[in-house]
Amino acid sequence: MKPNFRFAPSPNGFLHLGHAYSALFSYHWARKMNADFLLRIEDIDILRSRPQYIEAIKQDLTWLNIKWLEPIMLQSTRFSEYKKATKKLNDLGVLYPCFCTRSEIANNAEQKDPDGAPLYAKTCKNLNKDDIAKKIAQNIPYVLRLDMDKAIAKVGDLEINIAMPNPSSKPKTVIANPKKWGDVVIVRKDIPTSYHLSVIIDDDAQNITHLIRGKDLEQATHVHRVLQSLLGLNSPIYTHHTLIKDDTNMKLAKSKHSTPLRDLRESGISAQEIISQFDF
Ligand code: GLU
Repeated sequence: MKPNFRFAPSPNGFLHLGHAYSALFSYHWARKMNADFLLRIEDIDILRSRPQYIEAIKQDLTWLNIKWLEPIMLQSTRFSEYKKATKKLNDLGVLYPCFCTRSEIANNAEQKDPDGAPLYAKTCKNLNKDDIAKKIAQNIPYVLRLDMDKAIAKVGDLEINIAMPNPSSKPKTVIANPKKWGDVVIVRKDIPTSYHLSVIIDDDAQNITHLIRGKDLEQATHVHRVLQSLLGLNSPIYTHHTLIKDDTNMKLAKSKHSTPLRDLRESGISAQEIISQFDF
């Protein structure tokens, strides 16, 4: 099978140097390995996604001399696929509704998840059918969570193939350890999917064989591996690259107002100057 690589930005802000590094890293190895390079816009977050950011992503990537294979996949067009997968997980008996508010989750948490967020204390795991029906009748909003213990019992030990430092390295297998995430959210309150669910469905739909993304998502891969196994989806070879830091040694993030690529471009910096500072 021909290898496929991808870049999958969320259009909720302008791309910055960290995105440029990630996209260029993936594009560099796609070309080296004679693979197709695909673009996917992760716009499930209807409230935060903006069409002008999608346009800006295309402009920035084009400026960086990155060419993707059309068509671009838009996650906002794929809710029916996410719904089908949710039904499949539900039929497997590995989902349960959780009615907790953000503050209840924070107050009940005794540990943190790998992202440093409060680890869900499984408060709603043992609600009985009547309690659930009552809360739904009262219109209390709820998420669907993965019952991680049940999921692990179904899939057993799973291997993740990790190629470091780059995708041409011989992959090593690591045993997935998703327990540290607890009962993750699979379907959010505000939208009928989640990052974890959509990303694995679409990586499979786009036949991604080599997945390159930042180390900030390395731990999430452990959840993704379980979901792939439950849904019978392919698991790519993963490479998690180091993150580009700012002057204060902090990870660059859209929310922290890192300088957008478009501002660098307008200030007269050339794409070549950006590309040549990176080592893949
Ligand atoms: N859409 C995610 C982001 O922009 C990346 C997801 C991924 O590469 O798996 O941070």
